[in-house]
Amino acid sequence: MTVTERVVAEVERATDEIVSYTAELVRIPTVNPPGAEYDACAHFIGRDLERRGFSVEYIAAEGLREHTARFPRVNVVGSRRGGPGPVVHLNGHFDVVPPGDGWTIDPFGGVVRDGRIYGRGVCDMKAGIAAALFAAEAIARAGVALPGTIEISGTVDEESGGFAGVAYLAEGGRIAEGRTDFVIIPEPLNVDRICIGHRGVYWFEVTARGRMGHGSMPFLGLSAIDGMSELLHLVREDLRPALAARTTAVPVVPPGARHATINVNGIDGGQPVDGIQTPCVADLCRAVFDRRFLMEEGFDAAKAEIEQLVGRAGRASGVRFDLRDLMVVHPTRTPSDSPVIAALDRSIRCVLGKPAELVASPGTYDHKHVARLAHVPHCVAYGPGILDLAHQPDEWCAIDDLVNATKIIALATLDLMRARRDN
Ligand SMILES: [Zn+2]
Repeated sequence: MTVTERVVAEVERATDEIVSYTAELVRIPTVNPPGAEYDACAHFIGRDLERRGFSVEYIAAEGLREHTARFPRVNVVGSRRGGPGPVVHLNGHFDVVPPGDGWTIDPFGGVVRDGRIYGRGVCDMKAGIAAALFAAEAIARAGVALPGTIEISGTVDEESGGFAGVAYLAEGGRIAEGRTDFVIIPEPLNVDRICIGHRGVYWFEVTARGRMGHGSMPFLGLSAIDGMSELLHLVREDLRPALAARTTAVPVVPPGARHATINVNGIDGGQPVDGIQTPCVADLCRAVFDRRFLMEEGFDAAKAEIEQLVGRAGRASGVRFDLRDLMVVHPTRTPSDSPVIAALDRSIRCVLGKPAELVASPGTYDHKHVARLAHVPHCVAYGPGILDLAHQPDEWCAIDDLVNATKIIALATLDLMRARRDN
């Protein structure tokens, strides 16, 4: 048997173990917010890595406000060293979004039925963590000498920005240029697709300030709500069509997200609606916007366009506007000649018998921290699970996809450890 055949056979033999490990992970309710059971989950993963011969570190996000005694932010990193070849880092976030309504089964029961594993976070992305772990395990069981180093990390808070998770590891130098050669994040992008990046994000808050007046004589005041509605009108009538006409060359999925977009996250103005009402013209109205911009647009142009729109709304309404940046994430794209894309593509062809589809994510994920903070360009997301099922009720992952993704990650990891080190 060839090395490839041996590794593939070991993954197949481990199917039941992979499924039960995934179900065990689902049963730890690592809900974010608030960031529950992180310590337990990090140690669950860490103990398993240790049993499988990894040296394990626990890295708590000391110094960050969200790292509290009640909800500690604990990450786990395991590494198994072989030859002098490249370091391949497999990273998965173990936080999950709250279950929400609409479930027909226990979201934390780890139910296995009809060839699927069910539960909150199974698709996004506890199955991915299991795939990473058993990819490494299959390589070991196949008796293949490691040409390089495999690292596996379980990290926190991806769903809320990843600052205590991958960003913390990158800032602390644990994932870093010169130390980490290749990163695969087994997020659920579908078993035959490689995700090479994402659009940019610009979250901003707009405050409209008018002038109070008696509600029976609104013409003597200046309504901040009227001012904000002028801005919303411009966003809807002018900006949105312009954004929809811009298309990126980056293969963002679904196709609707291949364009620039804007969404209003929330709006708050005038008196609290549930409170006792008084006849007053609203002197304050605030709204938060989510602008997704394309690599071709760039942040500066996206922001300048918003400033101009806010200026127009101010002149039209007489209301004073302030614009405040809340969050900026720059677009990320893996270099198209990256060995990590080539290795996964070869493995997908080998296991699934078809070429990989390259896609980019409509949202962002921890790739941004790997690229921008760790300065490791060779990062992609590839993992089991169907993208559309993430964050849905009755979330599930197909066992076949999980097993295939495990094979693909194992083969790609081996391939990458044989690659030449850049540094
Ligand atoms: Zn995820």
